[in-house]
Amino acid sequence: MKYFSLNHNAPDVSFQEAVVRGLAPDKGLYFPKEINKLPDSFFNDIESLDNVSIAYEAIKQFVGDEIPETDLKAILTDVLNFDFPVVEIDDNIASLELYHGPTMAFKDVGARFMARCLGYFNKQNNTKQDVTVLVATSGDTGGAVASGFLGVDGVEVVILYPSGKVSDIQERQLTTLGQNITAFEVEGVFDDCQDMVKRAFLDEDFKGKRSLTSANSINIARWLPQMFYYFFAYKVLKHKNEKLVFSVPSGNYGNICAGMMAQKLGLPIEHFITGTNANAVVPEYLETGNYTTKSSVQTISNAMDVGAPSNFIRIEELHHHSFEKLKANLSGYSYSDSETLDAINHLKEKYNYVADPHGAIGYMALKDYLNKKIAQGVFLETAHPIKFLPVMPKAIADEMSIPPQIEAILHLEKKRILISNYEQLKQQLLN
Ligand SMILES: *Cc1c(COP(=O)(O)O)cnc(C)c1O
Repeated sequence: MKYFSLNHNAPDVSFQEAVVRGLAPDKGLYFPKEINKLPDSFFNDIESLDNVSIAYEAIKQFVGDEIPETDLKAILTDVLNFDFPVVEIDDNIASLELYHGPTMAFKDVGARFMARCLGYFNKQNNTKQDVTVLVATSGDTGGAVASGFLGVDGVEVVILYPSGKVSDIQERQLTTLGQNITAFEVEGVFDDCQDMVKRAFLDEDFKGKRSLTSANSINIARWLPQMFYYFFAYKVLKHKNEKLVFSVPSGNYGNICAGMMAQKLGLPIEHFITGTNANAVVPEYLETGNYTTKSSVQTISNAMDVGAPSNFIRIEELHHHSFEKLKANLSGYSYSDSETLDAINHLKEKYNYVADPHGAIGYMALKDYLNKKIAQGVFLETAHPIKFLPVMPKAIADEMSIPPQIEAILHLEKKRILISNYEQLKQQLLN
């Protein structure tokens, strides 16, 4: 499979090159040149397939012959070694829990898949030069990337996080693993971390010394495997024979865009719903037709505090840049922090279900949509509520117990390098 840059000013590349580069030289996002529908027989027989077989069928055209079937299946078996439960909480409302992986956020699947692909290519090529994955995080991305890449040969991971702006659990997930993972605590906010990463990618002084790549959802190997979730949910809910809609709490729009890719492959999804916090660029666009990016504002669903969603361009490409087509396939709603807390309390009181702030937004958006349309709705629960303990309603937080994945890291020592400017980062990386 070949990939082209959505800025249309760079050469087409292979899967491997797209994964290693992250972003095209013209700063465009990579996008597959072809998307072929899966055969009807796949959807007819999906109940008889296990998760690895489903994932393999979904992703194989995007990898092509660059990773042979047995190796790709081995990678997928390793990546998907936890559950993706569909929890039905009301007649037409189900939660798709994507937080049963090692760092308890949905980003585990993409990060683990990307890590194993890079590891595979390194082994094949016997590359002399290690790849350095450089990533800025406001919380969840860093943990998933650190865990996903831990111990992968030939790959070093450097994570930048804003001092005092991530929760204690998230900080431990970034700083306690060691081995090939290095964490930098940046005196500043998330945008400062992001700026340092961008500067490093443009910095000529790294040429020939370190080969840098990104592990944000702009990387196709992190973005594409997220489509598996939608197939897994379909497999469970297919027998209901109802129109299926997905509500996705969104920040950079990688996850929902992967769902739209699943739809392009023929998965019968009737409609998508995006739920956001106060960072409502996309719901506002759907309402007004004006796409206006903004600086992000801080909320209690902080993994979605994004003012300029990086994957939205891929969503537009999937809808042939037609506003009308997009509007027919996507609805959007945004909610305040107090509405989010109300929804968390409501889910607990009415259904005895504990949602995190992101999942709660997905739930509200789904409810608002189902007020107008009849369908089977699924909202994506993107992180375990324990990761957002400090902002959860106190009565619910007090009742929550710490899952074993989290317990295991609580006693480990945090190791990080404190920096306050780009030159310090650069010096460390070039040493
Ligand atoms: C990253 C993240 C999101 C947003 O996902 P996008 O793919 O960026 O839209 C939502 N919820 C949680 C918990 C996340 O970590």
